[in-house]
Amino acid sequence: MILYGSKAVHIKSEQSKTSTCPSCETQGSLILSVFRRHVHVFWIPLFPIGKKGMSQCQHCKNVLKTREMPAPIRKEYEILKNSAKGPAWQFVGLGMLIVLIIWGSYADSQNKKLALEYIASPMDGDIYEYKIETGNYSTLKVTAVSKDSVFVAPNEYEISKKSRIYKINKPQNYSKLSYGISKNRLKEMYSSGEILDINR
Ligand SMILES: [Zn+2]
Repeated sequence: MILYGSKAVHIKSEQSKTSTCPSCETQGSLILSVFRRHVHVFWIPLFPIGKKGMSQCQHCKNVLKTREMPAPIRKEYEILKNSAKGPAWQFVGLGMLIVLIIWGSYADSQNKKLALEYIASPMDGDIYEYKIETGNYSTLKVTAVSKDSVFVAPNEYEISKKSRIYKINKPQNYSKLSYGISKNRLKEMYSSGEILDINR
């Protein structure tokens, strides 16, 4: 299976009226062609990576790569190349990436906004995800909220991957004993990154 690679797309051809074929010396028999290459991933074009070209004689079928072209033909090819525009679809992948990045950063900022709201007004049942000194992750569950403090029951389990925290977030995993954290301390714990995320 091909995951990535590059592909050349034909974008322009023109018959040269003045140049002479170096092989059969017929005048006006050369067709100059320009191709634009693009990088693709999973068959989706990402972005163009430059142009390449060739000429073919209609009379003797001789093909010349750009580096094989005599100076006058090369010059004519360069003019054609500079006037040849490639199709916009060769940028489709790049466009998709930009949209994904913008969407991702928007979703991230919305998530942070919600977390700040949850920290400012805690509710019973809120789950705080945090990192333990051992490098593992665990959770705290809010069991009660008073004027200045939040009471949390610690999860008796921990897990090594942040993305798997949901696996240990089960009612029976939480300690029967809760302890209090001041609301100010809670805000500090979130702003310092001790609390990673809040789920409600
Ligand atoms: Zn020829």
